[in-house]
Amino acid sequence: MIVDYHMHPRRPGGSPGVEDLDHTLEAVERYVEAAARAGVDEIGFTEHVYYFRETRRLWTAPYQVDRCRFELEPYVDAVVEGKRRGYPVKLGLEVDFVPGREEETRALLEPYPWDYLLGSIHFLDDLGIDGPPRLVDAVGVDEAWRRYFAALAAAARSGLFDSLAHPDLVKIFGDRPDAGLTTRLYADAADAVAEAGVAVEISSAGEYKPVAEPYPAAALLRAFRGRGVPITLASDAHLAENVGRGLERVVAHARAAGYDTVTVLEGRGKRQEPLG
Ligand SMILES: [Zn+2]
Ligand SMILES: [Zn+2]
Repeated sequence: MIVDYHMHPRRPGGSPGVEDLDHTLEAVERYVEAAARAGVDEIGFTEHVYYFRETRRLWTAPYQVDRCRFELEPYVDAVVEGKRRGYPVKLGLEVDFVPGREEETRALLEPYPWDYLLGSIHFLDDLGIDGPPRLVDAVGVDEAWRRYFAALAAAARSGLFDSLAHPDLVKIFGDRPDAGLTTRLYADAADAVAEAGVAVEISSAGEYKPVAEPYPAAALLRAFRGRGVPITLASDAHLAENVGRGLERVVAHARAAGYDTVTVLEGRGKRQEPLG
């Protein structure tokens, strides 16, 4: 089985830097058709949580505050209607983890019929992991990695999430600490994720970023595999044409680390299916 459990519904033709959100049944259908063409059996929609006004009180970074002006209901309704029509779709959300705001996050998202929640770390103390103002510029590479992986472990332990998005996003610009620190951070993160019983996604998105490799790195993926952490597959598509992009390499990356099953997420539960 091939799943793609990370995508953002957008209209084609948005100008660079200005994304045109499309929370309609037509968007769901466009992505479903693209998935079929790409050989993907099931997709999950995971819009960014910070677009939705219902979550406004969680955000302080200007990037998130500026985007926080849409309503959750049309997004949820479009995907739920797709499910009702029998399309192979799941209702997810990409949720930024805000340390210290776990209970509030849980309460805000509780009323909706999620199949799964994807945990992400894009900002820490309003400094960006993958964009300006960058954490790495403020504190250096080693400290950025320490803080990122500590937050990833806390996100796993929070119980908020079913799976973790782009688990080593902090490598996006290609900077890395020395091998000793990297190995320790990987081991600690993998321990926390395994104990929490959370899945991780393998994402092709990193291949199209400066680091030019999937998330997570092979060594981190082996650390997850060694502790029995289950996986999902992800393109992080922001256009229908990118649904399923690079998943053949993601599957090979998973197999090389020893995986032979993929996680199907449904109604906040998990099961394993044969990979590929
Ligand atoms: Zn993300
Ligand atoms: Zn995303």
